[in-house]
Amino acid sequence: TSNSQQQSNTFNEMLYEDRPEIVMTIDQLSLLNKHSNLRDINYSLIHEDDGSSPQSPLHSVKTFEELKLEPQLLNGIYYMGFRRPSRIQERALPQLLAYPPRNMIAQSQNGTGKTAAFSLATLSRMDPNLDYVQALILSPTFELALQIGKVIENMAKFLPHIKIAYAVRDPTISKRNEYTKGKELNVPIVIGTPGTVEDWCRKMKIIDLKKLRMFVVDEADVMISLPGFSQICFNLKSAMGKDCQTMLFSATYSDEVMDFAKRIIENPVIFRLKREEQSLSNIRQFYIKCNNDEEKYEAVKTIYSSITIGQAMIFCRYKHTAHALALRMINDKHCVELLSSELSVEQRAAVINRFRDGKFRVLVVTNVCARGIDIDDISLVLNFEFPLIYDETKRCFADKPDYDTYLHRIGRAGRFGRIGHTFNLITPSEMPLLEQIENYFQKPIMEFSEKHIVDDD
Ligand code: ADP
Repeated sequence: TSNSQQQSNTFNEMLYEDRPEIVMTIDQLSLLNKHSNLRDINYSLIHEDDGSSPQSPLHSVKTFEELKLEPQLLNGIYYMGFRRPSRIQERALPQLLAYPPRNMIAQSQNGTGKTAAFSLATLSRMDPNLDYVQALILSPTFELALQIGKVIENMAKFLPHIKIAYAVRDPTISKRNEYTKGKELNVPIVIGTPGTVEDWCRKMKIIDLKKLRMFVVDEADVMISLPGFSQICFNLKSAMGKDCQTMLFSATYSDEVMDFAKRIIENPVIFRLKREEQSLSNIRQFYIKCNNDEEKYEAVKTIYSSITIGQAMIFCRYKHTAHALALRMINDKHCVELLSSELSVEQRAAVINRFRDGKFRVLVVTNVCARGIDIDDISLVLNFEFPLIYDETKRCFADKPDYDTYLHRIGRAGRFGRIGHTFNLITPSEMPLLEQIENYFQKPIMEFSEKHIVDDD
């Protein structure tokens, strides 16, 4: 449809060699981040009371046993390799499993355990004696719907009565759904994309929304970015009974998401997981003057040989720079991989996971992949090309530093109190940008000489 057409156009545009890489659609990013491991270390939890939650103090659980789940479900969790609840699960699960059920809005980055939380809550409420749809989970894309299904299937490994139907437009999947128009689906859980779910409810009449016990809207931020989806969510919700427990999850937090959430959910308890403030205090920032890419490459080699690198990320503005750099480093026998837009979402996720697992030491990244991807705790960040503000109207980079991106990039080094190093490879004409960064963050950026590194050891 026109929306997927629009997305593939965006994708095609990214393939032009010299076009700066800055575009990644929110659903691509979301999918990308989904392919990864639990990472909720650098976050703190905020509970926002909307004034309507009960007075009882909010409790949290440190173990899954405390949740008093049925043994088969607990075994499913252990089967998945989970030992203890993630940060958001500690607080969200007691609320989600409470009687009477609580509605919830939860925002936290991908990879912090939201899907596992609502999957667990959903499974805990399924009654094996009922022969109709009890839970409806909405996902913005077909791929994400399948991923949620996989989580639930694994978690329900020891719950043989749990079956899932996928309300998605993909013919290979929907062919497997056996249903008769007008006859209620005899499956407890339906996961689907809004349009098809609406068809199943209204045209096919195989889901009776009045009977639902659980309604989950996942990836709400992606959902509202796709045309028509918000309205379908409202329509579906308005046909549900008052006591249907409703949950909404989002990776990002904005007024738009919250407006949407509050229109769908009555009396919610609200949780947000916030990335802890990045402090630059344990990050040493350096610059090295270079006249051209050749000199920049020499600088990379100097840095590489003079410090013991744990893992490094090198940021480039353009794909061709990133390609050339990665290729040269590989030829020089360095263990390097490249993350740029011509890789499929799955390929990118695989690169990120290999990097996180320490399978290689240097990751070269273009702008398109720099934002929104959680890779923390590396010892060295190198700006091969300085981050600049992109001017959408002129379709080129402006002569202004991009402070947020700078902070985001260098904040990846020096986590957990360790010393991190950041290097800016700067051409003489870019020196004013460096000064602006120094002024903005009120932290000095020193010219690099090897003595700095020796000092640290
Ligand atoms: P989100 O929905 O926030 O993106 P997920 O629920 O998909 O997060 O969890 C991200 C990853 O972490 C998945 O691989 C999941 O299996 C794993 N995970 C979730 N909860 C836990 C836990 N309590 N312990 C260990 N791993 C977990």
